[in-house]
Amino acid sequence: MDRPVAGTEGQSFDGGCHCGDIRFRATGPPRQILICHCSDCLKLTGASWRASAVQAENFILLTGSGLRWYSSSDWAECGF
Ligand SMILES: [Zn+2]
Repeated sequence: MDRPVAGTEGQSFDGGCHCGDIRFRATGPPRQILICHCSDCLKLTGASWRASAVQAENFILLTGSGLRWYSSSDWAECGF
């Protein structure tokens, strides 16, 4: 499931929220996209699924002073 996407080695990907307060960088090759339909993901997104393609150790938060963090499960934290 964590197989890297071919052709992305050595690349990084920047992104952020719509207002620009939060900026992040994903380093290292992204893994295959993981789609989750669990009840936590439904509540966190307000949608019928959530997608992820970045290993936690490859995620760098560049800006996000307005973020508040909370434990969304026994093993994860979410910022909003
Ligand atoms: Zn989930």
